[in-house]
Amino acid sequence: MNKLVQIINKIVDKIEINKDYLTDLDREIGDGDHGVNLSRGGKKLEENISSFENLKEYEVLNKIAMLLLSNVGGASGALYSTALMRGASYLKNCDTINEKTIGETFSAMIKGIEERGKSTVGEKTMLDTLVPASEAFNMAAEKGCNLEECFQQAYIAGKKGMEYTKNIKATKGRASYLGDRSIGTLDPGAVSSYLILETIKEEI
Ligand code: ADP
Ligand code: MG
Repeated sequence: MNKLVQIINKIVDKIEINKDYLTDLDREIGDGDHGVNLSRGGKKLEENISSFENLKEYEVLNKIAMLLLSNVGGASGALYSTALMRGASYLKNCDTINEKTIGETFSAMIKGIEERGKSTVGEKTMLDTLVPASEAFNMAAEKGCNLEECFQQAYIAGKKGMEYTKNIKATKGRASYLGDRSIGTLDPGAVSSYLILETIKEEI
């Protein structure tokens, strides 16, 4: 099976297992639908994934982006779709897929989220997981680490960033309506991004 397709299948499983957990977190500081939203996207992916087998990696990313855009809804649907589309555009122009180009693709995805969400690290969002993870990935790639090691470093940094969202106040997204009352709960999007990273680390 195409490795990327295999990883995507595992991500869908991981999100499904954690659906209620993600929704509970979003009930604390949002509108209680994050797990439900992502699970809906996962179901659509499962239905369509067999048709991705023979596509190029960037085409797979684009296909997923389209499916998520029309099925996930919520801020996270738009943001994860944007990330995938930006990643696909970058990857399309890469001659090879290696640690360096995967790291650059990761950076392009994050830039997409920042632009679409008008957000940055430190605002209690998915970016608090993804930005440190991407920085750690690129640093490891520069040092000559292999893909497994790069994702291991990304995972460690992303986990720390995710955990830190518990201590900070949300200034973007629905959770920002709560102001200081958003402190004390993990950000659901930071947790879903962490779960995605964890799955990639496990499968790579
Ligand atoms: P909604 O907030 O529309 O109900 P979800 O519950 O599916 O959508 O997703 C909420 C998550 O989306 C948040 O936990 C946060 O991580 C992320 N998010 C929301 N707004 C932004 C933003 N402007 N930039 C980055 N991430 C955001
Ligand atoms: Mg929500």
